[in-house]
Amino acid sequence: MTASNRVPIIGGNWKMNTDRTTGIALAKAVASGVASLQAQGKKVEVAVFPPFVYLPAISETLCAAGSNIALGAQDVYHAEKGAFTGEVSVGMLRDVGVKTVLVGHSERRHVIHEGDDLINLKVRAVLHHAMRCVLCVGEKLEQRETGQTNTINERQVRLGLRDVRPDELDRLVIAYEPVWAIGTGKTATPQDAQDAHRHIRLVLADLFGKDAAAGVRIQYGGSVNAANAKELMSQPDIDGALVGGASLKDADFLQIVSAACGG
Ligand code: PEP
Repeated sequence: MTASNRVPIIGGNWKMNTDRTTGIALAKAVASGVASLQAQGKKVEVAVFPPFVYLPAISETLCAAGSNIALGAQDVYHAEKGAFTGEVSVGMLRDVGVKTVLVGHSERRHVIHEGDDLINLKVRAVLHHAMRCVLCVGEKLEQRETGQTNTINERQVRLGLRDVRPDELDRLVIAYEPVWAIGTGKTATPQDAQDAHRHIRLVLADLFGKDAAAGVRIQYGGSVNAANAKELMSQPDIDGALVGGASLKDADFLQIVSAACGG
């Protein structure tokens, strides 16, 4: 597979935002906008990641709209069931219509203090249950400033994907999200983002082979908005975006989706 036939993928990470009413309204508006783009023959995959408690409501909304937007979860726990107060399993997510799961988002790594071993267990649980897994990686500001960007990303990719099988790769997406760019209004330059994506693809090639690596989509995330999306996604190794703040406004998010398929 070559860069040209990787279908772009855009995720809207709502984080701990929206309520039932505003979430349903947002999902309806996004479903309608994505349907019109797809009716024009644009090739793009879209996922939304609402808070856990609104997943059933958003699932019903997307189904009622006949939408092919994938319902996503912002996190998961790797065990199947049991005494894990407050946690949610892959099977439970699937039961309410979830198709794709974020793992290792920077807020889980750096606010909730999840480590690479736990992240790896979650990645394997999601892939094992035949769901799409979006593994998020990215360096902090001091790590970028001390020239460690590629080292940090490489470590997070290698540890996150430990014991993942090559036949599971079609369900894997990587999201490169420099921590300093998330929710800050600062964005990596298209060239800096491309360089990081390229390095991640080389690591994937080392782990799984060049052809397999060429098929994995790598999204950029970090203050993506309607104004900067097109240039970022025109880079050869950037296959879409994971969007936080701008995914809460349907018009902004739809402009980003449109930019992913050529604008
Ligand atoms: C994110 O939540 O993954 C993200 C990239 O947020 P923002 O777009 O707000 O920086």
